[in-house]
Amino acid sequence: MPDKRDYYDVLGVSKDAGDKEVKSAYRKLAMKYHPDRSDAPDAEERFKEISEAYAVLSDPQKRRQYDQFGHSGISGQYSQEDLFRGVDFEDLLRGFGGGGSIFDMFFGGGGGSRGPSRGRDLRFDLDLSLEEAASGHETTIQVPRSENCPTCNGSGARPGTNPASCGNCHGSGHITRAQQTPFGQMISSTTCPKCGGRGQIITSPCEDCNGSGRVRRVRRINVKIPAGVESGQHLKLRGQGEAGPVGSGGSAPSGDLYVFVNVRPHPVFRRIDDDLLQESHVSITQAALGTDLEVPTLDGRAKIKVPPGTQSGTVFRLRGKGMPSLHGGTGDMHVKLNLRTPTNLTSRQRQLLEELAREFGEQKQGKSFIDKIVDEVKGAVQ
Ligand SMILES: [Zn+2]
Ligand SMILES: [Zn+2]
Repeated sequence: MPDKRDYYDVLGVSKDAGDKEVKSAYRKLAMKYHPDRSDAPDAEERFKEISEAYAVLSDPQKRRQYDQFGHSGISGQYSQEDLFRGVDFEDLLRGFGGGGSIFDMFFGGGGGSRGPSRGRDLRFDLDLSLEEAASGHETTIQVPRSENCPTCNGSGARPGTNPASCGNCHGSGHITRAQQTPFGQMISSTTCPKCGGRGQIITSPCEDCNGSGRVRRVRRINVKIPAGVESGQHLKLRGQGEAGPVGSGGSAPSGDLYVFVNVRPHPVFRRIDDDLLQESHVSITQAALGTDLEVPTLDGRAKIKVPPGTQSGTVFRLRGKGMPSLHGGTGDMHVKLNLRTPTNLTSRQRQLLEELAREFGEQKQGKSFIDKIVDEVKGAVQ
């Protein structure tokens, strides 16, 4: 997990920005990253990040706390709910997409629109190579899920027959009881045990789904992964999850399908944000004399001019040869050069290197450099 980013950086405003500036910065970013408007896999994450930054910086007390103590001043003081209390996101986001649903995002449902009467969400894990992540990837995934039974159209009743209204609950699916208590009349509502909340009784069940109205199917679904995607990011395919439960008055909406991306490690390139890193080797003569070096890239090969006198560990940058960014632009490729020390020398190579060593003053009159030092140490001791 990367460290939590500075709230001012998140909104792109200065430390002394006024309320108006903070608000307009938030609105601009929210417009870009609202999950209802953006298809970017990290849109939801970004949106949460900017909304949290706004919640803190738009509240004078929270902002003071943050200025003084940083993130720890906020997390130690406020719960998630406290953090967003008093921020009217609906008003802020009026005019561009369902502002109401953003609370579901922060607090995992309970906002009303995602009650129990909705099919379950599904998760699918998709493995990609780095090359596929770089170019973007379109594929068909096979998702096992529950769907409306096509034979009975989800009613559960054999075609040609009709389900009967449940007599126990009069078709409502729940039973309401009024009880007199010392505190007055208490009304309680429970799911009808006879029809299980459907409001209907199947007298002759559909043979394909045994009256449940649901069948399991492996559905082939086309997904388009945008170029630059990273491990851990996900796409949300609305309504592609499990079918909603059969209830009184028809079916509830289906859940969503989340496609989580995992990018496999690459044998040569290592990814750091939108940049790629690789290591390459040159011989000592190539490093000393300079050379043209060919290195692999995502789309073929590239040439690096290694100048004479290049040191081991030097990093060369190939601009625009990294990963495409989800938000536009492309990262760079960094090539780190390592020196390869020659081994298994032929006698001729050895002779030349010894000659070179003598030329560098490392070896004299057949006596090795080490021998020379040993002699000098001996002399000093005597
Ligand atoms: Zn059926
Ligand atoms: Zn009933």
